[in-house]
Amino acid sequence: MTNEEFRLNAHELVDWMADYLGNLEHYSVKSDIKPGDIKSQLPSAAPVNGEDFQAIFSDFKNIIIPGMTHWQHPGFFAYFPANNSEPSILAEMLTATMGAQCMLWLTSPAAEELEERVMEWLRDILGLPKEFIGVIQDSSSSATLVALLSAREKRSGFEINRRGFSPADKFRVYTSTQGHSSIDKDVKIAGIGIENLVKIEVDPNFAILADKLEEAITRDLADGLVPLAVVSTFGTTSSTAIDPIGEIGIICAKYNCWHHVDASYAGTALMLSEIREMAPGMDRCDSFVVNPHKWMFTNFDCSAYFIRDKQALVNTFSILPEYLKTQEDKLVNNYRDWGVPLGRRFRALKLWFVIRTYGIAGMQQMIRHHIAAGQWLKAEILKTPGIELMAPAPFNLVCFRFHPEGMDDATLLDKYNENKLHEINRSGTVFLTQTRLNGKYVIRFVAGQTHTTLETVKCGWNHVLESAFSDAD
Ligand SMILES: *Cc1c(COP(=O)(O)O)cnc(C)c1O
Repeated sequence: MTNEEFRLNAHELVDWMADYLGNLEHYSVKSDIKPGDIKSQLPSAAPVNGEDFQAIFSDFKNIIIPGMTHWQHPGFFAYFPANNSEPSILAEMLTATMGAQCMLWLTSPAAEELEERVMEWLRDILGLPKEFIGVIQDSSSSATLVALLSAREKRSGFEINRRGFSPADKFRVYTSTQGHSSIDKDVKIAGIGIENLVKIEVDPNFAILADKLEEAITRDLADGLVPLAVVSTFGTTSSTAIDPIGEIGIICAKYNCWHHVDASYAGTALMLSEIREMAPGMDRCDSFVVNPHKWMFTNFDCSAYFIRDKQALVNTFSILPEYLKTQEDKLVNNYRDWGVPLGRRFRALKLWFVIRTYGIAGMQQMIRHHIAAGQWLKAEILKTPGIELMAPAPFNLVCFRFHPEGMDDATLLDKYNENKLHEINRSGTVFLTQTRLNGKYVIRFVAGQTHTTLETVKCGWNHVLESAFSDAD
């Protein structure tokens, strides 16, 4: 493709992008294709001779788009959002255009220094302690792995990196029964062993019981095990429950445990002072992760990881072969030593574009509106007969289930709600997903898209009610 062709194609593509974002409601939020439908339309061998851009772009529109789930659709209330925004997309185009690999300061000084600066901005926006230092990871799963590995190395005096595990390294990690599955995965990868991940009971609000946590730690100590880390959650995936972060911090300090806070989704809401009051003691944690790629208008991937002890992090991950040495090594951050991959994308650019476009006040207003829309839905559910609120809903995720009068068998109710969810999703107007709380099948409704408003939530909820109550059952 010549430079002139690139220019022409790019203009056409940008027009398509703007049309797409402006017309999302005309798409079916969820594709109704069957497994294999897309692959069967793709040739079994790659083309020998290069193809024309028009042919490729046309296949994108005709084959790929019908097989997409439209995550930015106004009827997308599933999972947690992976929202994007116009400024974020524009920055991502520039990132791709420059194609820089940002592993060292030297490989793009502006990328490294911008990352330092936007992480400081984000730390301050979220009210995290000034001594925290931030780095962008690809995902929260990776950030939590980095936290566990740093905790492991700091505790072992960086010995496990050298000699591997010894029989004395009987580490234990604690989280609640509501902790994200990435913690299970990370404990396995960190070599700690899934049998050493202790899942602590929760209270009726699905928050960890701090006294049960302390009991588990003291029991393990009595058994000669080594309590290493606690992963608490600010906004669990099933129901956005908030663990008592402050109390956990005190327990961690008492038993010399690393305290990592998983605020992957709800951490964004810490930009609101009224939300910050819900999590006193956050300033005592050792590390913290929030995903701007979930609820902060920054397209996937962008996971912001903050840590108090920079040395624990860098000593855990640093490698310095001759071919990566630079003259500035002592003066700058070389982010290759701040996580697992060597190569790194320039992710700070999109965060910078987003924060500058909306401003702190603009982002706060959007988050407040999303929470207000969630609270409206919660109030609606509380006054609708035949629908039950299944968790407290402190933010904009509302968990509910249908409960027809007289239907009290647990298995029957689960099945009934599962069928209802499929009916609701069938039309392609809205997309909702499910979870289990206290063993019960529960439907989740999340109001956190960039352009979500009270109106789009009302519209989506009307559709839920229509499809759920249309038939006589
Ligand atoms: C989404 C989520 C994760 C995993 O995030 P990734 O960035 O996809 O790894 C972890 N913890 C919580 C609480 C989440 O909501």
